[in-house]
Amino acid sequence: PQVARLVASRVLDVPDFPKPGVMFKDLMPLFADGDVFREVIDGIIDHHGRDNFDIVVGIEARGFVIAAAIAYATGLGVVPVRKAGKLPRPAYSASYALEYGEATLEVHQDAFTAGHRVLVVDDVLATGGTAEATLDLVERAGGTVAGFTVLLELGFLGGRERLAGRPVHALLTV
Ligand code: IMP
Repeated sequence: PQVARLVASRVLDVPDFPKPGVMFKDLMPLFADGDVFREVIDGIIDHHGRDNFDIVVGIEARGFVIAAAIAYATGLGVVPVRKAGKLPRPAYSASYALEYGEATLEVHQDAFTAGHRVLVVDDVLATGGTAEATLDLVERAGGTVAGFTVLLELGFLGGRERLAGRPVHALLTV
């Protein structure tokens, strides 16, 4: 569809970033193009339906950009899921394994009203570790996951399988 072509037209492949052998997908050109950014945001809202979520979660840091735009366009609020140590008040933490070491994400314990339907967004779905931890945090904080959407899914990394049973949506899968 149109929106998938738009995403494809605004991704840059960056070899050997952040380390040798990795092909990094850079979506900055998409964010920087006002018309494309608007169509992408509207496409996400249309996919889920404006009335099917109550609040938007963005995953640090590029997810914040997407979440804030969806929240503003729908008149809803936005909640950040942040890397460890950034949130000022009591937070839930979820850790997950990286290739080397571990990463921890956090959300404020009072981020959601019980039963609020939460739309979670990020730029790229790779192995799914980030998303799995985030969806876990949303539920521990009392939210209900209404959907998880990324602009770009790297299908060969198996994130969707890791998130089996979750409502995963990607504007473009490569
Ligand atoms: P995962 O946990 O392996 O699924 O990695 C997803 C997280 O890492 C997301 O927050 C992405 O922003 C980031 N990420 C992983 N690979 C890429 C990439 O190629 N381009 C941009 N972000 C990436």
